[in-house]
Amino acid sequence: MVFTQHFCAACGSEHIRRNGSAGGHAKYQCKGCGHQARFTPAAVAKALQYAQVDELLGERNSQRSIARVTGISRVTIASRIKKSASGFAGAPALAPQKGPEKGVGSAGAG
Ligand SMILES: [Zn+2]
Repeated sequence: MVFTQHFCAACGSEHIRRNGSAGGHAKYQCKGCGHQARFTPAAVAKALQYAQVDELLGERNSQRSIARVTGISRVTIASRIKKSASGFAGAPALAPQKGPEKGVGSAGAG
């Protein structure tokens, strides 16, 4: 899950309000401590998440475990593996893996 709720970077308070804009991005000010900042745009937050996915993939974690940890869809992770397959040195990019089909749609173990 990606939450769009903003928090103060200085004190962690959620009592913040818009306070003008800078560089095309909204500025926010904390009511609690007065800390003022531009909050991380969604694209940057997503890039950070993807960086975490790449890191976990490097540690040979399963797609499902990565999906659980990062909250990113397993399908998205799978497509990232395809895109970055040429980049990974050790990964068998062109090996035709025809393993047993696992239930994709079913939400089983929880
Ligand atoms: Zn604050």
